[in-house]
Amino acid sequence: MTDQSPITELHLFNSLTRQLEPFQPVHAGEARVYTCGPTVYNYPHIGNMRAYVFADVLGRTLSWRGYKLTHIINITDVGHLTDDADEGEDKMEKMAAEKAQSIWDIARHYTEAYWDDVKALNIRQPAKWSVATDYIEEMLQFAKSIADKHCYELESGLYFDVTTVDDYGRLARAVTEEGEGRIDTVEGKRNAADFAIWRKTPGGETRQMEWDSPWGKGAPGWHLECSVMGEKLLGFPFDIHTGGIDHREIHHPNEIAQNQAFCGCGGLSEATNSGAKIWMHNNFLVERSGKMSKSAGEFLRLQLLIDKGYHPLSYRMMCLQAHYRSELEFTWEGLTAALTRLKRMVMAAERLTESVKGAEQGQRLPPVEEFQHPKLAPSIAKFNEAMADDLNTAVAITALEDVLAAKKVDAAMKHAVVAYMDAVLGLDLLELQREDLRLRPKSAEIKEAEIEDALARRKAARAEKDFTTSDALRDELAARGVEVMDGDPLGWEWKL
Ligand code: AMP
Ligand code: ZN
Repeated sequence: MTDQSPITELHLFNSLTRQLEPFQPVHAGEARVYTCGPTVYNYPHIGNMRAYVFADVLGRTLSWRGYKLTHIINITDVGHLTDDADEGEDKMEKMAAEKAQSIWDIARHYTEAYWDDVKALNIRQPAKWSVATDYIEEMLQFAKSIADKHCYELESGLYFDVTTVDDYGRLARAVTEEGEGRIDTVEGKRNAADFAIWRKTPGGETRQMEWDSPWGKGAPGWHLECSVMGEKLLGFPFDIHTGGIDHREIHHPNEIAQNQAFCGCGGLSEATNSGAKIWMHNNFLVERSGKMSKSAGEFLRLQLLIDKGYHPLSYRMMCLQAHYRSELEFTWEGLTAALTRLKRMVMAAERLTESVKGAEQGQRLPPVEEFQHPKLAPSIAKFNEAMADDLNTAVAITALEDVLAAKKVDAAMKHAVVAYMDAVLGLDLLELQREDLRLRPKSAEIKEAEIEDALARRKAARAEKDFTTSDALRDELAARGVEVMDGDPLGWEWKL
């Protein structure tokens, strides 16, 4: 892959250096990415799914730019406590006890529910879903290799001493400097930030998930899992590690500390010691009331959106309209606007597909990047520059809309550009049908069928030059919150 100009060279924001950096792969022509996956103790909320939409767009962008992508997403089915540091109960055990089911059944159920959301949001399958409990042996090996130099044993487990590595928590400190947060103190350890890499089963107890180790029966710490699966499946250093912004504070600094220790003990160089070259973090989806949580009875799951009549890709659209590093507030009005925008684009794409079918067959087109068409080339450049600029999907969507709206352009060329752009955005524009996107919110003031009926009557009135009726229909719709759009560039007729 050779970049044509500095402006289209892919730049990504590295949380470790707090800078935009050009993407320079560790292995020529390849991109190796690790994404922290879900802890499968409950359904994911739509905030969690924002993290995977972001990782998917990153993966698609790397593939689109010609890199051979190896993307790993893990499934955490053991070791994650209710507090990201070392306090609280094991999330999986807690839910299993509440539901009176085995942890394994809980893990299977919620992993499948997560995969349903992944599919519905058009998130591509990674090269591997790595399940933490499949890597216990590798975790023990990793822990043994760093134990003497970096860890100490307490009654409750094996702890990592964070003062044994250079510059612990530089990822989190970057945050502290910005005043956004800091590592909390935890009692009972040599240092407040020390963390368990192996938690022993308390004497006299038996756990559903426990394994033998040199430190007694127990289970791995959550941070150890990601270090080990990243190293085993991608090799240190790999290119990019992703997760939600909360991971910048504890989980990722702890992973980095373990990776440094592992590389040091294995004789690897300084340059490889963070495990990954670039650490990327998506910002949170928040509700008006504040942080999104699963503790409330009805929390925001993708299925809830679907039950209310919203196509799941309208949520993907909502995510892509914001930059992944910006906080995004979820509102139903915002989701409705995203659905309307998606539908507007799908209808334009449908008309385009129809005209391509009718056009001359067998036409051979050059690669899209070489299109010199005066109407398409600027939009292609705008799209490429936006995506190269730390995945600016918000601007990239407008470039795609410009293409859909372009007049007097060969349909096959236009179709090729839409396919090229949507391969990165993953909105499924060329596959979705307008019927799939019918707005059916149970709570909506007005049903889409009513809007269409009124618009059809208005069209008939206008055809007969009965402008009194046509204006009255427009005013009626306006009174119910629907704006009629005459002359929209994509031919869309209304908006809520
Ligand atoms: P968990 O299953 O709790 O480990 O979280 C899965 C992923 O979702 C992690 O990458 C979290 O950082 C991320 N995450 C959690 N809450 C949100 C949110 N409200 N918005 C965006 N990402 C989130
Ligand atoms: Zn992780």
